[in-house]
Amino acid sequence: MTSTLADMGIYAGFDMVPRLSKGLLYIHKWESFIKMIKEIYQNDDLVEVKPNYIVFKAGEHPMLPFEGHKFLQFNSKVSGSHANGVEVYTRTIAEGAKLQFGSRIRYWDETLDQFGVYNWQEVNDSFKSYEQPDKPDKPDKPDKPESPTSIAQLVFGTDPISELDLQLFDVQPVPGTGRGLVARFNIATGKRILSEKPLFTIPGIQSMELYESTVTTKLKALSKPEQREFLFLHNNFPGKHPFSGIFKTNALPCGPGSAISGVYPTLCLINHSCLANAHFSWNSDTNCENIHAIRAIKAGEEITICYMKGHSLDSRRAYFRESFSFSCDCGLCSLPPPDIQISDARRLQIRLLHDAVDDQCRMINKPADCLADCQRILQLLKEEYQDTAGTSIAILYYDAFLINITQSDQARASVFAERAYGSRAICDGADSPESRRIKGLMEDPTNHMNFGISKKWETAKGQVPMGLDTVEFEKWLWEGR
Ligand SMILES: [Zn+2]
Repeated sequence: MTSTLADMGIYAGFDMVPRLSKGLLYIHKWESFIKMIKEIYQNDDLVEVKPNYIVFKAGEHPMLPFEGHKFLQFNSKVSGSHANGVEVYTRTIAEGAKLQFGSRIRYWDETLDQFGVYNWQEVNDSFKSYEQPDKPDKPDKPDKPESPTSIAQLVFGTDPISELDLQLFDVQPVPGTGRGLVARFNIATGKRILSEKPLFTIPGIQSMELYESTVTTKLKALSKPEQREFLFLHNNFPGKHPFSGIFKTNALPCGPGSAISGVYPTLCLINHSCLANAHFSWNSDTNCENIHAIRAIKAGEEITICYMKGHSLDSRRAYFRESFSFSCDCGLCSLPPPDIQISDARRLQIRLLHDAVDDQCRMINKPADCLADCQRILQLLKEEYQDTAGTSIAILYYDAFLINITQSDQARASVFAERAYGSRAICDGADSPESRRIKGLMEDPTNHMNFGISKKWETAKGQVPMGLDTVEFEKWLWEGR
């Protein structure tokens, strides 16, 4: 039987290509997807949860089974009087499925001359299988030699393992913020969670009208699936300028202080926290925005990034209201007023000390004072951020490197560069241009242009003392002379 659904009307839908195996990972992924769909439609009278599947009572009543390996296609006739909004269900569910299964989900719409890949018989057989859950697999016969089962086979089934399969997170509904990314496994510090190219980027623009027309032009140039990914993003600025509203809500700068910003289908779903467990950074070599865990993240924990660091509660609130039209209720912003005061004062002190350290004249003439300030900043960062200070630690160690190399102290400079590199690689990845630059300075600190400005603390790189315990080594390292 090779007839297609096109023979019987105009259909739209999406396919799972290739179909899912029975591996544990796919069982888990499909369960997360079904959970998300149930939550989205929990108050929708047209959506009914049956014992083994969900049915959408619109169009031809398309279904989603609870066993993912049975699923081939979600489809419905979109023409005729019974459509009842089935097209909207189909699009929304396809977008949700795409977040979990990426390019395995293929959306098609016969009005656009796009067709499903499975034939009528295959699809109908799969629908019939939804009614009954599978019987448990029979155990192997004792006389049959056991085939070795790797952990990978158990987790992934027999499908080839791709990057997509190793996804460390699920997209899930998050109270108060719509959707968010939740860790599927325990994620180690420094692990790259996600790397994504922008759907499109735009430079900073003054007027809202120009902003809207620029975003609209960029949007029109995208493929249909990409346009849907963009339109599926949250908009905190509904009204006259819908597309620039979505862009403004979600855009991230392409590098610190960059006037160019981009939007990303998955990365833009990551919510903000002032004490975030992950860091976003633009890699100008790969033109990708990367997300790294800056501390260990437990399975089930939401993955968060920080849009604005180091400011007081009032400044943060004003910035979030103006730039994103949202209010933050993270652990820090929800502290009682006396604790907020302590946090605000500490953040102010960190900023003032940073300004003092960045003073070039002082770095040359009062290096011991600058180094003492660095040590104080380190202590304050640990008090304020615990283990989530991220790039602030990398910057701090880099400042300590600068102080020492300006005084020609290669030994201490190389140790500080090593620490700056370690912290930077956690936040941005070892492959980022900045990580590689600092690694070069760690290997040869004399490559920095400040080397030799003063010879007051001159040492050779090999003069790092051996055999000291931690306390003695730290004393030597931070020694101001
Ligand atoms: Zn906050």
